[in-house]
Amino acid sequence: MACKGPLESYPPPDKRKSPRISHEFLKRTRQRVIRKSAEKTNFIGSQVNLVIRNNISNKIDSLTTFHNRHSKSPNINIAAEWIMNELKQFDNNVTYHEYVQGNHQLRNVVYHKQGATDKILLFCAHYDTILNTRREDIDARAPGANDNASGVCSLLEISRIISKLDFELSLRFVFFSGEEQGLWGSTHYAEAIKERNEDLYAVINMDMCAEPGFLSTNRTTYVDIDDGSTGLVTTNNEPSQKLGEKMEQMAIDYVPGLNVDYDPIDASDYMPFEARGYVCIGAYDGSAVSENSHYHSETDLLSNLDVELLTSVTKMVLAFALTEGKVKDS
Ligand SMILES: [Zn+2]
Repeated sequence: MACKGPLESYPPPDKRKSPRISHEFLKRTRQRVIRKSAEKTNFIGSQVNLVIRNNISNKIDSLTTFHNRHSKSPNINIAAEWIMNELKQFDNNVTYHEYVQGNHQLRNVVYHKQGATDKILLFCAHYDTILNTRREDIDARAPGANDNASGVCSLLEISRIISKLDFELSLRFVFFSGEEQGLWGSTHYAEAIKERNEDLYAVINMDMCAEPGFLSTNRTTYVDIDDGSTGLVTTNNEPSQKLGEKMEQMAIDYVPGLNVDYDPIDASDYMPFEARGYVCIGAYDGSAVSENSHYHSETDLLSNLDVELLTSVTKMVLAFALTEGKVKDS
């Protein structure tokens, strides 16, 4: 992950090589995050109850009917239009962030919800797909249900709910292309944030969130944190760990039955933000492993997902958005 000119270049992300979290961190965290917090509110609980499981599964169904969403195929910009239209159903403040990578004119889709301040809490997920066996094949079927319609459709459901609320912070939802080629969309976008000198408080990435069977229980999600074993910058490590603990607290407070384990941030769209010093965390189901035959394959389909698990993760991330974004209760 060396820097090459203004944009560093990342290899195609392969989460199968990810390092595991240190036991020291887990020991410290477990002493802090053990019970319901005093800040838990009925208002946030009521908003969390508005998450509709069928909204999530219906959208995954639609997104996986694209033959593929390969970033070098014409499908990718049609998928971007689909995401934009979904967002415009509840708010008009949706734009494309256009970028050029090699011969490819690509788009990130951006929904901005202005708060009382310009401080930004950014949620992101990539919408492109790829096959491990034929990475350059733009005609092959690559449905990408878990990777990463799961993250996209979870954030669409969260966007729907937050669009009706008022916040102290500004909330931004960004949907990236080019992730599977080497974090293209997120690298361009993180650079744009830096160039515009925007006040970016934290990045929450969702990439593969709906396939259980690879963690300690079938009701467990990873919260990815910057534990120092990955990434380039050290000043953002501890703030990331604190935010990760806050994310776990959201599960304890608002999502009974959802268990959190920790994992280092790696091989996904938060890394270009991390490299610019921003504070990053993520949600991830641990399923990008060689034993998972659906990973980057034709069988990454809705029928192999646990939408109930994804609904729980969606509620956790929504509660985090409401709490950290300082939602106005009225
Ligand atoms: Zn992915």
